Amino acid sequence: MCPHKKQSMYRITLSKNGEVSIDLNQNQPGRGAYVCKNDGCFTQMVKKKRLDKTFKHAVNKEVYLTLGKLFQD
Ligand SMILES: [Zn+2]
Repeated sequence: MCPHKKQSMYRITLSKNGEVSIDLNQNQPGRGAYVCKNDGCFTQMVKKKRLDKTFKHAVNKEVYLTLGKLFQD
């Protein structure tokens, strides 16, 4: 398990209408999943489909792709 570091972490949220977004201010309501910007945390999240489990909802592949772009920097 990855010990997420707060200063380099993203919060990903699922809204009521099923939209997945990155909560940059970490203050959006709803269920949230945390992932680090570094150290392969996101790669693991994709591999293990952790978002699907956290949100109890099948997350669209495109969501993972969109998030992946953000993690390329
Ligand atoms: Zn992490």
